[in-house]
Amino acid sequence: MNLILLGPPGAGKGTQAKFIVEKYGIPQISTGDILRHAVKERSELGLKAQAYMESGALVPDDLVVSIIRDRLTWGDAAKGFILDGFPRTVAQADALAVMLSGASMAIDHVVSITVSVDELVERVVGRLTCRGCGRGYHLKFDPPKTASVCDVCSADLYQREDDREETMRSRLDAYAAQTAPLIEYYAAKGLLRPIHGVGSIQEIQSAISSVLAG
Ligand code: AMP
Repeated sequence: MNLILLGPPGAGKGTQAKFIVEKYGIPQISTGDILRHAVKERSELGLKAQAYMESGALVPDDLVVSIIRDRLTWGDAAKGFILDGFPRTVAQADALAVMLSGASMAIDHVVSITVSVDELVERVVGRLTCRGCGRGYHLKFDPPKTASVCDVCSADLYQREDDREETMRSRLDAYAAQTAPLIEYYAAKGLLRPIHGVGSIQEIQSAISSVLAG
């Protein structure tokens, strides 16, 4: 099964992708994770992407398209994949369509998670990540037992540079201007599966499961 997870920053794409990975045994391909890793490693890709990411803007299409072009050739993607955070522009979606048809592959479902802007800002601005093991927390919805310390490995917790409120607003603007048009794009192809992204993680998981089973 080949899936795209579409939705604004903070909609829960990463969380839901992890559940789909476990349930269906297909890899999650997150351009955000790949880019953050590249920035940490200070690779050529990372150096090119860093300033865009820190300001909340999108990284240029050619950079992310080549990440995906390479990643889809890995053996694990042959049985299916979840694209998380890609495509984010119509140009990326067009490039993906060309890539997939060249490999005789196709997208089965575009799961589009919808959440209001105020809810998104509250969710993202409270997000914390462990520097050691990478576990995610939330100040309000899933706080650590001791402030700023990971329950699992005791390393300290940090806020992603691009999760600060001002950057978050820029990321939402980028989403509205550049990514939201993909909702129409995939609806026109009959691939869009809208999911209301407010509720417990389990409720959203079961809504996604029903869509994928149908
Ligand atoms: P994410 O973790 O998916 O929210 O991505 C974090 C940041 O990485 C975004 O705000 C963009 O700067 C960059 N990024 C991730 N995926 C893409 C993409 N498909 N196109 C352009 N920029 C991206």
